Amino acid sequence: SRESLIKAEKMQGLYHLAAAFGHEIRQPLTISKGMLQLLTEGKWPADKQQEFLLASIAEINRAEKIIKNYQIFAEPYPSKTERFDLVNEIQQVINLIEPITDMTNIQIQSNLSAAWINGDKAKVEQCLIHICTNAMEAMESGGRLTIRSKNINGKSVIEISDTGIGMTKKQITRLGEPFFSLTDQKGTGLGMMVVFRIVESMGGKLEIDSEVGKGTNVKIIFTENDSDQGLDSIINPIHKAGKD
Ligand code: ADP
Repeated sequence: SRESLIKAEKMQGLYHLAAAFGHEIRQPLTISKGMLQLLTEGKWPADKQQEFLLASIAEINRAEKIIKNYQIFAEPYPSKTERFDLVNEIQQVINLIEPITDMTNIQIQSNLSAAWINGDKAKVEQCLIHICTNAMEAMESGGRLTIRSKNINGKSVIEISDTGIGMTKKQITRLGEPFFSLTDQKGTGLGMMVVFRIVESMGGKLEIDSEVGKGTNVKIIFTENDSDQGLDSIINPIHKAGKD
């Protein structure tokens, strides 16, 4: 029946999430534990002890960040919906990433005009930071990060593009699935999954264009009148489609 199908889908999602979480959180904890175990041996000079301690803290910080990412799923939607202009949020994100781009030979360009949306500021900012981080990671030997915002026909559009390594068609379609990461051990593909969920929860959608060796363009489109559609549309998209 439709109902048991929905339930099965939900359970699948839960299994995925639990497995991905376990997989992701284990590594930093294992490293941190290893560092602390080394310290108990008591034969290390002071500078080595300091090094192990700092490394252990860094890994715990990483674990903390992973947990925070997962908590987004547990938070009740809508969280804090308000009407705001994305330009301010984009500017904040640019300020935040500027120091990093200086070090990595990445140029930032922006072309921002008013783009009002209804949504959760903090979550939108988190999405923008994640997309920009991905873009910067795709440009290890430098490049150009361009951020644009505008409003056309009642739609607020943000575009973030990079001149990085790009992705194949297949890689694009798999983006947002847990366990998908092109860069070996670095992630589990959860970042974009979170981005997709957040944008969808605010009635927006994502369009990704990319070409291998050329770069990637991520477009977020918000329809101004759409407000937060609530938890149901996030955990239960099938059900919603059935009602429409
Ligand atoms: P994570 O970065 O944690 O692995 P994401 O869901 O953010 O998870 O991204 C999944 C993978 O998709 C990344 O590891 C990267 O290989 C690829 N990717 C994402 N954005 C870009 C981009 N702008 N250019 C090239 N590859 C990208």
